[in-house]
Amino acid sequence: MNKKKDIRALSKDQLREFFISNNDKAFRGNQVYEWLWSKAAHSFDDMTNISKTTRNMLDENFVINHIEVDTMQRSNDGTVKNAIKLHDGLIVESVLIPTKTRTTACVSSQVGCSLDCKFCATARLKRMRNLNPDEIYDQVVAIDQQSRHYYNHKLSNIVFMGMGEPLMNYNNVLKAIDKITSPEGLGMAARRITVSTSGVPKMIKKMADDEVRFNLAVSLHSAIDEVRTSIMPFNTRFPLKDLRESLEYWYAKTKSSVTYEYVVWNGINDRKEDIDALVAFCKHIPCKVNLIEYNPIDDGEFQQAPERALNNYISNLEMNDIVVNVRRSRGKDIDAACGQLANKS
Ligand code: SAH
Repeated sequence: MNKKKDIRALSKDQLREFFISNNDKAFRGNQVYEWLWSKAAHSFDDMTNISKTTRNMLDENFVINHIEVDTMQRSNDGTVKNAIKLHDGLIVESVLIPTKTRTTACVSSQVGCSLDCKFCATARLKRMRNLNPDEIYDQVVAIDQQSRHYYNHKLSNIVFMGMGEPLMNYNNVLKAIDKITSPEGLGMAARRITVSTSGVPKMIKKMADDEVRFNLAVSLHSAIDEVRTSIMPFNTRFPLKDLRESLEYWYAKTKSSVTYEYVVWNGINDRKEDIDALVAFCKHIPCKVNLIEYNPIDDGEFQQAPERALNNYISNLEMNDIVVNVRRSRGKDIDAACGQLANKS
């Protein structure tokens, strides 16, 4: 079988080359590139300023592996969850989270996840494969369109907090972000993008070396190795000492602070020593803490700690001049909240 190539795997230069070698002008490559990315065309027939003959020739050689929004659910708080069908039939989820002043896209970087966080529904799916740069980019385009349609303004922020571990699909995530920030793509500012990681030290250092401009968030949940390993078993491979060292490297190189995401659970990390350890961890580099509400994924071992425990955390952090925010969950009724993305529908 003559398998056609995904045209969006080609760089702009490669596309220009393709047209030259087919006795056309390099400029044609620019036009097609614009259709593929900033105009997000789903088919060659959308490319109205390209001749029919050229469109047919493209169709004979390439496919556009565009994602499709398979099902869309709207929460009563305005959150929109998309089940996204990929060209090979696999499904990932992405979420649009509106507030009064902005809309945020929460996108996936992998189908499933190779990490094994005990409190996260995505972990139960296992990792099937990495998403391609265009599959990540397309999720953002789809949510930008929904933002304009439902909320009358363009997408304002992006968080890589959907399915998967972005730093385990680093190259493709970076390529997608390049397209999102490029004027030839969506032209969004890197400062409006946050990559969230469970903490892969080697890759955090790589990001620093690559001088990336987007924000970094780390899902910490505990600053005590024993506790963290019990809820995030990969912590044995990437212990807190290595994580801390990579974050110091990150800050030294980029001068940008880090956000720690943290859920407080009953009987797991609600003791005074847990708080003290977090405060100590926070002193290494400039940071802020987001206390996230727990979204139950079953009836079992994890339970959100009561207000009193949260207040203990907040007062201790504030006493030490560490900025702390409490993040309420959005879209819980449609399983769209943090840690609930599991292709249920
Ligand atoms: N792998 C990346 C991104 C995906 S998870 C990471 O770990 O950061 C996005 C955020 O949701 C992480 O902070 C994660 O710890 C948190 N999370 C996972 N399951 C959750 C749950 N059931 N309730 C609340 N937050 C959860």
